[in-house]
Amino acid sequence: MPYAYDDQNVFAKILRGEIPSTPVFESAHTLAFPDITPQKKVHILVIPKGPYRCYDHFVQAASDAEQLDFFRSVTKVAEQLGVAESAGGQGFRLITNSGADSHQEVPHFHVHLLGGEPCGPLTCK
Ligand code: AMP
Repeated sequence: MPYAYDDQNVFAKILRGEIPSTPVFESAHTLAFPDITPQKKVHILVIPKGPYRCYDHFVQAASDAEQLDFFRSVTKVAEQLGVAESAGGQGFRLITNSGADSHQEVPHFHVHLLGGEPCGPLTCK
């Protein structure tokens, strides 16, 4: 089934400058900014600039350049914030919610980058 993309979602509005954010990183195809409701000391959202609803949609429809830029950007953000082990940090967790069972709230593909303290169990019941 093809994915529909609703450009009225909050991250699309951030990308268009209609809702304020404070980017911590930007590249040709990727933007990263703090989650408005941080769950850990470090809680950054990394999003592609293109209109992709979820992980599957991104992998199926984004160009190789967009995908490479995105995944490299995640590492750059982790290094920049000092949580990557390669930057002397204690590591980090990546989460991406995709669809209803995952409780994805914002229908624009994003990765939560969490760290700065122990992240705890992988999932809750
Ligand atoms: P998810 O459930 O994976 O779709 O997560 C969506 C995330 O977006 C939540 O953690 C929200 O706190 C976050 N969020 C919603 N609106 C904003 C906003 N304006 N700026 C930054 N983060 C936001």
